[in-house]
Amino acid sequence: MRRKLAAGNWKMNGTGSALSELASLSQSYSKASVDILICPPATLLHRAADAVAESAVTVGGQDCHSGHSGAHTGDISADMLLDAGATSVILGHSERRVDHGEHDEDVRAKARAAMDAGLKAVICVGESLEQREAANTLDIIGGQMSGSIPDQSTGENLIVAYEPIWAIGTGKVPTLEEIGEVHDFMRARLERRFGEGVGRSVRLLYGGSVKPSNAADIFAVSNVDGALVGGASLKAADFSGIIQALESI
Ligand code: PEP
Repeated sequence: MRRKLAAGNWKMNGTGSALSELASLSQSYSKASVDILICPPATLLHRAADAVAESAVTVGGQDCHSGHSGAHTGDISADMLLDAGATSVILGHSERRVDHGEHDEDVRAKARAAMDAGLKAVICVGESLEQREAANTLDIIGGQMSGSIPDQSTGENLIVAYEPIWAIGTGKVPTLEEIGEVHDFMRARLERRFGEGVGRSVRLLYGGSVKPSNAADIFAVSNVDGALVGGASLKAADFSGIIQALESI
């Protein structure tokens, strides 16, 4: 059985005052029947880890460098994230692929570094609107998975998030059939590459405009093991609605 996961990506949002949201989330979830992960900006990570220490909530990074240390101004290594209290790191988010020109091979190298450090890698894949309209979605997802996911992946250290770029922050969501088609495809790809045991144990998240009001329907789709949530993870009340929907599946 794959344990469900509600993951929040705060992106470049939040200063110290936002820690009260984490405090209230950890108060609500001293225990939980699903995994809960919040990825705040790096500047908050250490304080965020302290804020959730007595709860079922864990924290993660939003990116890491592929190297251990060295002359990389502004970058953060996987070991540094671990040292700050992270359990996981989001890699290959479309905003990094687009804004920072990250390619599959960069994501793969970062994922290797994350896994070597003992972090779970949440690897994001997703098509643009043009690619979907050209009926290229599965080719794009398949290519990103082959290119971005390292060979050392297991059900423990890998989570894959399907995030259609056109659904991120737009309020647009694919149909449940479209989500199911991509998630079934991703499961089959993982089983083919890693064998049934590992392939079936990797968690697959859907991301893109998930809210408390649409979460339950999305979580009922086959091979959806949870969500990666942007905007609706910033407020504990919204994110709790999503966690509750996941807990009730
Ligand atoms: C995201 O950026 O990972 C995301 C899914 O954002 P939102 O939930 O705001 O669409």
